[in-house]
Amino acid sequence: MKLEELIKEKPYLQSPLELYDKIRKFIDYCKSEKERIKLENTTDIIDIVLKGFSGVFNIPYESIAFLKDEILKYGKDPMREPSIIRNLPIQSEELSKEEVDRMLFIITKPFFVFLRKDGQQASFMDTGKCPICGTDSSLAMINENNEKIMICPLCEHEGSFYRICCPYCFNKDSGKMEIILDEEEIRADYCLECNTYIKTFKENHYIKYKDPFLIDLISLPLDIIAQRRGYIRRSPNIIGLKIIE
Ligand SMILES: [Zn+2]
Ligand SMILES: [Zn+2]
Repeated sequence: MKLEELIKEKPYLQSPLELYDKIRKFIDYCKSEKERIKLENTTDIIDIVLKGFSGVFNIPYESIAFLKDEILKYGKDPMREPSIIRNLPIQSEELSKEEVDRMLFIITKPFFVFLRKDGQQASFMDTGKCPICGTDSSLAMINENNEKIMICPLCEHEGSFYRICCPYCFNKDSGKMEIILDEEEIRADYCLECNTYIKTFKENHYIKYKDPFLIDLISLPLDIIAQRRGYIRRSPNIIGLKIIE
């Protein structure tokens, strides 16, 4: 399904979907440039990422070039610890704190994606968190074999998990879980033990939308319902939102 069609169908999602589209283009650009130039050097990769960000978001490169120095000055390698970028002490006169946070979240994203190697197999079974980058996941797919595959919101790693189990507190008692469905049968699974929720979709949703992170956005109304009821989303969606009002 094309993005324009989706926006026509769900006009209330226009701005998150447009941002989604840019973030996807940005990540694709970073991935293909890194591959094309075959660079592994952190400084060069920061350049690729900032150039991609500048191009896709239409922001002059000169106005974000300082971020390169800030990242290098921090003294830790974002290729190993991408989360340092989100913690940079950036002061801006033009941007609000929320805008700065959003920008740093987006710039961090390709570094997380670079952590993951293609075809890497590792499950979420041990901790319920992403085995590659340690992030909580709020999104899962039930595949055609009725297995649950958790999806990391940051590095995009996919790995198996228990079919009935809260990834946050490991509650496995289905009597202490509740499920709600939206009109497309995408689910929110509430854990009554720790108030965490995750969203779950099926393979047919995947075939329709092709990208788990798009399904996560299509089902934003489920987040609103879950959060109004007091349930907690433990990790952001692809556009950096965790609290959805
Ligand atoms: Zn991850
Ligand atoms: Zn729980």
